[in-house]
Amino acid sequence: VFITLEGTEGVGKSTALGFMQQYLQGHHVPFISTREPGGTPLAEQIRHLLLNKSQEPVAVNAELLLLFAARAQHIEQVIKPALAAKKWVLCDRFTDATYAYQGGGRGVDNQKIALLEQLVQADLRPQLTLWLDAPVEVGLARAAKRQQLDRFEQEKASFFDKVRAIYRQRAQAEPQRFRRIDATASIEDVQAQIQQALAHWVAV
Ligand code: C5P
Repeated sequence: VFITLEGTEGVGKSTALGFMQQYLQGHHVPFISTREPGGTPLAEQIRHLLLNKSQEPVAVNAELLLLFAARAQHIEQVIKPALAAKKWVLCDRFTDATYAYQGGGRGVDNQKIALLEQLVQADLRPQLTLWLDAPVEVGLARAAKRQQLDRFEQEKASFFDKVRAIYRQRAQAEPQRFRRIDATASIEDVQAQIQQALAHWVAV
C-alpha cells in the first residue's frame, strides 16, 4: 500500500507520521517511511538545492523539473522496490504537493504537471492520501516558531491559501483516495482520525 501525507506548513505532518509508524508497527505491518522532495542521497541533494536560498531567482520550470527529477530517482530507488517487496510506503509529500505548491502557489499549468506525472510515474499513484488540513494562519504561526524558515516557508499567507485551495479541490475530486484530517483538533483526536484511516487498509 502506497500512502502519502500532505498539508500546508505547520499542520503537524511529522507528528502524524509518527502516529502512522506507531500504528503500523503495532499491527506488524512491514513498511518504510520516506519523504519528498528527497528520500535518496541524490534526491536529498536536490531537496537541498530547492529549499535553500539560491544566488539567483529559481525559474519556475527549473523548480518543477528538479522536483520531478528527485521524484524519478526516489521512485526507482526506494518506492518501487519497497512495494515490490510487499512493504507499505509512507511518504511525507508526493505529487499532490506539486499540484498544490507549484500549481496553486506558483501558478504552473496543471497540464504541465500532469504531463510530468505521467512521464515519471506512469501508473504509480498513492492509494491513500492523508491530508492534514488547518487554516493557513494556524500552521504558519506554528511554523514561525522554528529556527530557520526554508525558501518556501518565507512565502506569504496568500501563497499558502492557494496551496490549501488546491489540496481541497483535489480531495473533493478524489474522495476515495483522499482522507481529510482536521489538524485543528486535539492531538488525540488527530491520532484517532489517522488510525481510522489506516484501519481499513490493515484489514484488507
Ligand atoms: O514537508 P516539508 O514541510 O518538510 O517540505 C519542505 C518544504 O518544501 C516546505 O516548505 C514545502 O512548502 C516545500 N515544497 C514545495 N513544493 C513541493 C514540495 C515541498 O514547495 N512540491
